[in-house]
Amino acid sequence: MSAVASTPARSGRPTVANRPRVGVVKLASCDGCQLTILDLEDELLALAERFEFVEFAEATSRRSSGPFDVLFVEGSISTPEQATEIVRLRAASRVLVVIGACATAGGIQALRTAAEHEAFRHAVYPAPAFVESLAEAKPIASYVTVDYELRGCPIDGHQLIELLTALTTGRRPQLPDQAVCLECKRRGIACVVVAKGEPCLGPVTQTGCGAICPGMGRGCYGCFGPREGANVDGLAGWYADGPVLGGLAPADVGRLFAGFTGASPAFRAVTERLDGRPQQPLRPATAHRPELRPEGVPVWGKEAVDGPRH
Ligand code: SF4
Repeated sequence: MSAVASTPARSGRPTVANRPRVGVVKLASCDGCQLTILDLEDELLALAERFEFVEFAEATSRRSSGPFDVLFVEGSISTPEQATEIVRLRAASRVLVVIGACATAGGIQALRTAAEHEAFRHAVYPAPAFVESLAEAKPIASYVTVDYELRGCPIDGHQLIELLTALTTGRRPQLPDQAVCLECKRRGIACVVVAKGEPCLGPVTQTGCGAICPGMGRGCYGCFGPREGANVDGLAGWYADGPVLGGLAPADVGRLFAGFTGASPAFRAVTERLDGRPQQPLRPATAHRPELRPEGVPVWGKEAVDGPRH
């Protein structure tokens, strides 16, 4: 890869230079993080000029399987195929950046990790035999070495620009690592815990969202995940026993942490300890099973009754 610089970043991590080949790919995800990149309307032309986007299915029909100078990967590892693909992508990438709560913490789909996998498969799919899925949805770092992570659900697009800029100039990226609380103080947002008596994960969550939820008068859901060294147990105990919220039921406190980054070790430990796992009973899927063609291919709906369209 001729575009890769030979000098490492000050962090000791790889740098890139010239006009790097950039890829954006998805695994198990909703595409929201990719759409956040496309939302950078004022910066998109400059980005396309500075970087060669060789793979970005949401933006271009141009396809590439690598090599990549920088590869952004959205989504968790949820199927055997993805577990194989991420190893190939890692080998094809100079710098691997995982983007979003799915890729960095497992995302919403990782909540199934605490549940009975087969029961879920039968509750969701009428013919689970045709669906390959792993019992646990995991962050990408569980499978391969990751160079950088951008958190959030979705990510903050300007953090992505900052990271690309830092990589091409050989400096350390300036990514925020404080709590959402500090963002509220800077922006003059009234604390929802104190002012409204509502629980909020802001004290233990890494900022990067601009404190959107407290800015709208509701508690933080923890989309950017636990910040390093956060006293998650302390906050949970305070919500359960402290005077401000009047003492919430422990299971309700545990459930607060079972959200977008609920599979991150720090949040999950609180959910488990306080028995906050969702208790929804699972029923088999109500949809009709598909018809099977002689060769074993499933056919759903009208086509199964009328025969294939020509
Ligand atoms: Fe979608 Fe959130 Fe996952 Fe990004 S992190 S792909 S926005 S679910």
